[in-house]
Formats: sequence, structure tokens, C-alpha cells
Amino acid sequence: MSHAATPDYAAVLAQIHAEIEPSLGQGRVADYIPALARVPPRQFGMALCLLDGREYCVGDALVPFSVQSIAKVWAVALALRGAGEELWQRVGREPSGNAFNSLVQLETENGIPRNPLINAGALVTLDVLMDHVPDPVEAILGFVRGTARGVTVEVDEEVAASELAHSDRNYAVAHFMKGFGNIRHELAPLMRAYVRQCAIRMHCLDLCRSFLFLANHGVVPASGLRVLSHRQTKRLSALMFTCGFYDESGDFAFRVGLPGKSGVGGGVAAVLPGQFAIAVWSPALGRFGNSLAGIEALDRFTTRTGLSVF
Ligand code: GLU
Repeated sequence: MSHAATPDYAAVLAQIHAEIEPSLGQGRVADYIPALARVPPRQFGMALCLLDGREYCVGDALVPFSVQSIAKVWAVALALRGAGEELWQRVGREPSGNAFNSLVQLETENGIPRNPLINAGALVTLDVLMDHVPDPVEAILGFVRGTARGVTVEVDEEVAASELAHSDRNYAVAHFMKGFGNIRHELAPLMRAYVRQCAIRMHCLDLCRSFLFLANHGVVPASGLRVLSHRQTKRLSALMFTCGFYDESGDFAFRVGLPGKSGVGGGVAAVLPGQFAIAVWSPALGRFGNSLAGIEALDRFTTRTGLSVF
């Protein structure tokens, strides 16, 4: 199959939207957080931002949604800036092959989470971040606003409260790691920060803009602001590639071929280094907690354009 040298991105996005439309709503919205269970499942949005400043949107790309675990990427970026290499004494860099909220490996691995993009690893990352900034969620919001021009981002306090009231699983994970000495702060403020980080709300276009620095080796293309070093960006992108989709990470790499990160709100953000960031949102999830239509859309995008890391 041959690919056009310069794809007509607007046409590609419109075509993917039209093809995916009939299957929207298959899968299930995240129902373990009551405020997310109410989101209408048939929504679909997609945004593409190129390093040269061109932006393309389709469908519900300007409808804000809960980014959930996509926020783990920004938290790791900030923790890397604050703690540097020390972060890796507290959290690993291997895919877990387990569910996002799993406890099982922590027992045999002494409370050291496999990677910072599963819940256990994100809790440790936040615990590290709390040593470096007074309010980690404000720091994350400031970081996201700094990653692109025109990003509107806020915490949906209703979603945060709803998740906090249903945090038994995450509390269990945090208590367990605290038992191994790998959580140092009190659990109540840590969990409050965690659910507020998950409850960050923005739309696809802003999410896409906020990931563009990862496609540009750590530098915000529009402003020239360096937010991560080249090496830190490489490392964070590698984590996204190997661990960004929980126990579906291998399948996402196989189908899409881009470093990316999902959230149970139905969002997926991904990058092609040197070229673009892309974000998709559709709230109905497959059995691993990743957006069904979102992954299908990205599979079609990289297949149709021939643009992936391979
Ligand atoms: N708020 C979710 C949790 O910790 C995040 C999970 C996700 O988005 O994958 O349960």
C-alpha cells in the first residue's frame, strides 16, 4: 500500500469519523466512578496538532472530558524535573501486564510499582512530587498551561469527589506501599491530590496541544519553551509506548505504533516524535479500560497515513 507524501489530514479525520460513527457506543463507560457513569457514550472527538502549527479537529473535539490517567504523564514529567533520577529508586520502568489498579505484583516486588503509569506508580510519583512542590495539582495545572498556548484546563471537583468516595482500591494500593515504606506522606492528602489530578478536564484540541512538546523533544513548538530535556522526553515517551495502556499496551503498540496514554474517561493522547500530537476521545471503553473507538480511530489514522514510529 502506498501513502501520499503529504496526507490531506482534514479529509483523513473526516473519513475516520464517518467510518467509526456506526459503532460508537459499543463498550461501556467507566461505571466505578459514578460521575463518569453518566457521560453519554456515543460521543467522539479527534484533534491533530502538527509541529508547524496546523491544527485539525473533528466531531466532539471541543467538548471537555475527564482526562483521568492521561494526567499521569504530566505528573511524571514534573516529578522528573523535581526529583530527577531519584524517581527510579521508587518506581520501575517495566510494563505490568496487569490491570490499572492491580495490587498483585506489589507483594512480591516489595511495594515498588512496575511503572509510573499504573495507579500504584502514579501514587508513588505524586508522593515524590509532594516533596518538591507545595500543591502537586496546582503544579500540574501550571505545567499543562505552560505546555501550549491556549490550553484551558481545570479540575472537575464533582468527578474528584465522586472518585474519592469510591477509592477503596486505590487506598488499598497506597496502604500496601506505605507498609513497604514507599509512600511517605499521609494518605488522605495524597489521595485527594490523586483524584483531583485524575479529574482534570479539557477537550481533545487542548489535550493535543498539551502533548505537542513530547513530539518536539521537550520544547513547546509555539513558544520555544523547554519543559523537559531531550533525554527526559525520550524516557517519558518510551514509558508511554511500553506502559501507556495497562494490559493492552502491547496491543496498542501493535495496532497504532505510537507512544500514547489512555484514561478511563475515554481519552487517548499520542505523539509521533518530530511530527505531531493526536488526541481522541470517546467514552465507551473496552475490557482493559481503554477507549474502544479511540484506539480504533488511531489504528485507522496511522494505517491510512503510514505515519507511526515504524
Ligand atoms: N481515576 C482512575 C483510577 O485511579 C484512573 C484510572 C484510569 O484512567 O485508567 O481508578
